[in-house]
Parts: sequence; structure tokens; C-alpha cells
Amino acid sequence: MQKKGFLIIFSGPSGVGKGTICQELFKYEELNLAYSVSMTTREKRSDEIEGLNYFFVDRPTFENVIKNDELLEYAEFVGNYYGTPKSYCLEQIEKGKNVLLEIEVQGATQVLEKITDAVSIFLIPPSLEELESRIRGRKSEPESVLQARLAKAADELPLQSNYNYVVVNNTVEQAVAEIKTILEQEIANRI
Ligand code: 5GP
Repeated sequence: MQKKGFLIIFSGPSGVGKGTICQELFKYEELNLAYSVSMTTREKRSDEIEGLNYFFVDRPTFENVIKNDELLEYAEFVGNYYGTPKSYCLEQIEKGKNVLLEIEVQGATQVLEKITDAVSIFLIPPSLEELESRIRGRKSEPESVLQARLAKAADELPLQSNYNYVVVNNTVEQAVAEIKTILEQEIANRI
């Protein structure tokens, strides 16, 4: 019988570098990862690709998907909906893949209530100053949105205690190495 995979919840304040670290983790085939592409009502950034980074939809479409119970979790974040399509995650887990969800804290809480054997990892910046400079460096949003994201980060950081693991993103190499070790241990423990 095919061994089932597990869910990996990967959270951390906006701008902390989750995307870059995910890309690096996917280079390790032995981690057997599948990426859950979320649905969002946020505007697409110029460097983003539909279906790869997100499924970009309008609010009525998103609300319909909620009504049809097609999401594993969803949340509103700085004025937009974000959610995880349920069927893809469950199918991939059945196929033995370890499905990585890059989601914020409210959604993570919903998933942990439903799927108790998920692994949860919270990525933190070395400092809030460093986080601000990383968000500013992205230059993708107006100042008001940037301020809202920073305020959200201050709210989210204390919730790191709800996660199995906390990793500091000092450098991409170090954070990737730490998360890879965590995942290798989880894979080994589930055999
Ligand atoms: P961004 O707009 O920067 O891409 O994402 C904003 C926040 O939403 C990030 O913390 C990101 O991890 C989170 N996020 C992305 N997809 C989902 C999702 O499907 N569900 C939830 N709850 N949060 C998500």
C-alpha cells in the first residue's frame, strides 16, 4: 500500500522570505514535496504567474468556493481572501507527497484543528527592522498596505508558540538547512 504523505504548514510574517525558502526546499527531491497553490483575491504582482504562485480570482468566485466547501482553510489578510484548495492537498497526501502550505496564522490554526498530524514551522526575521527593510525592498505595494503588513507582522509573531518549530531566517542557506533537517526527521519518524 502507498504510504501517505503529510501536511507541512509554513507560516511567518509577510516579507520574511517564505517564498525564497520554499523554492530552495523544492530542489531536494528526497523531501517529496508538493506545493499547494492557494487561491486569492489579491491583485497579481508583476512577477507572479497565475496557477504557479496563486489562482487569482474575484471575490464572488472566492465566496462561491467557500460556500461549496472546497477549501481546507481560508482567511482574510490585509483586505483580501486567501485559501487552500482542499482536493489537491488530500489527493497529493494520498499519493505519498508531503504537501507544503505557505499560509498565515489564522488559516494555520484552522488546518491544525482538522489535521492534527500536520507539521508546523514558523519562520521569523532576525528583527522587525530587518523585516521592514525586506518588505520595502519588494517595492510592490503602496505605503498604506506596507504599514498594514507590518502591523500584521507584529500581531503574528507572538503566535509562533503555536507551531512545532520556529526557524530564524538569518540567511537563506541556514534557514533552508534547518528546515530540511526538520523535514528529514519528520519523514524518518513516520516510517
Ligand atoms: P502575500 O500577499 O504576501 O502573497 O500573502 C499574504 C499572506 O497570506 C502571507 O502570510 C501568506 O503566507 C498568506 N497566504 C498565502 N496563501 C494562503 C492561503 O491559502 N491561506 C492562508 N490562510 N494564508 C495564505
